[in-house]
Amino acid sequence: MKPSYIYFDLDNTLLDHSSAESKAQKATYEQYPELQKVDLDVWLSKYKEVNHNLWNQYQQGLVDRHQLQYSRFNDTMLQLELSPEKSTEIGKSYIQNYQKCWSWVDGVEESFAKISDRFDVGLITNGFKETQLKKYKYLSLDRYSDVMIVSEDVGKMKPHPMVFDHATKVAGVPREEILYVGDSYSSDIVGGRNAGWKTAWYTALISKNGEDNIADFEFENFDDLLTILDI
Ligand SMILES: [Mg+2]
Repeated sequence: MKPSYIYFDLDNTLLDHSSAESKAQKATYEQYPELQKVDLDVWLSKYKEVNHNLWNQYQQGLVDRHQLQYSRFNDTMLQLELSPEKSTEIGKSYIQNYQKCWSWVDGVEESFAKISDRFDVGLITNGFKETQLKKYKYLSLDRYSDVMIVSEDVGKMKPHPMVFDHATKVAGVPREEILYVGDSYSSDIVGGRNAGWKTAWYTALISKNGEDNIADFEFENFDDLLTILDI
């Protein structure tokens, strides 16, 4: 594969979001006795369900960023019959804890550095601009690229074509010469393919749900990505 430009997703492709989220949830749970009235597992699974539904609503423009950040704790507490009095404070503590738990996905930085030596690379991420910019700085991603397209700036989230059309213009190469590397089937692989890009699906951190594999390449180990890029 010889793309002219390679875009990477950020969360769970370069930055280990899942591990940061779990560690930060555990730390927050341990800070607040009001959460400990239910088991940590119960708390985590309800939070993930509520958060997932709120992100879907955010994607459809039904709630804004502030409602999402407020409701994911408030609604989880209500649904678990916990007093939501401190939900705003707990939400803020969670965000502080989350930022302390950021790290590269194990072993990915070395591969990403090699790829960026040989190819023009950029980032495309859903999520809040303020948070994603902090991640960009935290991982010193400016060493590799000055292009990060954040859905909040575009006004639509992946897999919306507006995100990919904008990114195609920024890359300045024909769309069929762009490769997109990401972990989300629905956002990254479907979105990239619909945009006429090549796609590489990174599946090490996700559990597959029986999706038809429409990616041009699927991998669990970044060494395999290096191989198909002839590095
Ligand atoms: Mg991702």
